[in-house]
Amino acid sequence: MVGIASILLATGFCVLGWMLGRHAVVAAPLVLGFAAVPHSLDGYASGPVWWLGSAVGAVLALAAASRSWREVRAVRALARSSTTGRTAAVGANAVKASKRALRRGHIKALVFVATATAGWTVAFAALPAELGRTYEEMAKESSSSAFAAVAAALSIMAIATVVSQGGRLFAMSRVGKRLVWEVPAGAGLAPSWPFVDDASGLVPLKDATSGGCICLLEFRRSFPDADDRLMPEEGVHASDYCPLHGIDRINDLSAAEFAAMAAESWLWDERSELPEQSRPNENRLLLYGFAGCIYTGVPLTARAGYVDASFPDIGLARVAEPGAVVPCWDQAERPAAGVLDTVDLRPAGYTGFAFRYRHGRAWFEAPEDDAVRPPALLL
Ligand SMILES: [Zn+2]
Repeated sequence: MVGIASILLATGFCVLGWMLGRHAVVAAPLVLGFAAVPHSLDGYASGPVWWLGSAVGAVLALAAASRSWREVRAVRALARSSTTGRTAAVGANAVKASKRALRRGHIKALVFVATATAGWTVAFAALPAELGRTYEEMAKESSSSAFAAVAAALSIMAIATVVSQGGRLFAMSRVGKRLVWEVPAGAGLAPSWPFVDDASGLVPLKDATSGGCICLLEFRRSFPDADDRLMPEEGVHASDYCPLHGIDRINDLSAAEFAAMAAESWLWDERSELPEQSRPNENRLLLYGFAGCIYTGVPLTARAGYVDASFPDIGLARVAEPGAVVPCWDQAERPAAGVLDTVDLRPAGYTGFAFRYRHGRAWFEAPEDDAVRPPALLL
């Protein structure tokens, strides 16, 4: 049973092994080792070859483990050397997102252990009926071998997920689970969800519930029974007629007042970009609990007085090509007519101008001429 199962498993690994990603490093020596045992016991000449393959796989796995170990040490040293002493309040979404990511790993490992156990039980239950058959007969049709191959694959996945989850927990405990990292843009990490954080035309919910603001009221009038579509972390769409966040309010601001408030989302048309900071160091990715490639941490957004994930299911940051900051979306074109005035935001630390409109919210536009832009933003 095990001999045929090991061949089935090795064939399956050759075809589908690429799907395992990082787990393949752990799986390869186990798959070859699983084939080596029955081939040696049965005295096949191919036995030593399987062992040799397994040993080579084990050396590669050890090399990968040692690289991970060095990475954890480097990240830990970096965490110590770059600690600012500042503290930040971390919101509930970020804590939930971090726990969910770990819980998913635990559940995956448990599912593999449980299904592997079930697979072996079925394989050994089918075995007695096939005892006494020749190898040739078994090779043609043997349900116990097929079940054993699946059970072995699940066992190997169980070991690989337990090892990788253990590695994650170890790295997090060494580096520090509750650190908030400021990672320079383009350093090889990107948020898992690039859409929410840059939304324009929104009023934070706490401002929308304060006196004088009618944005929430207008939203409810336009979309009755749509409160479940409100994302408290994201805010509510600014009403054009709100005395605090409406178009008149935007256009009544002096140029200096506007420039000072330029980071506020509600000033900007929904289709406009938010103004881009001219100092690249300020375009930083915030991560909660980063511990290296093994656990990239939860992407955070700075909110008033605290940092938080946009939503609990946001997922961990992804490893990206160094230099890639955010995906380039096709931006809508600024309307040509109806401009009231322009405000130069460059003295306030942004890369371009605000165009205010008589009947709409402002649009941000950075000059096309690259000479006036800092080189780091030419990517
Ligand atoms: Zn308002």
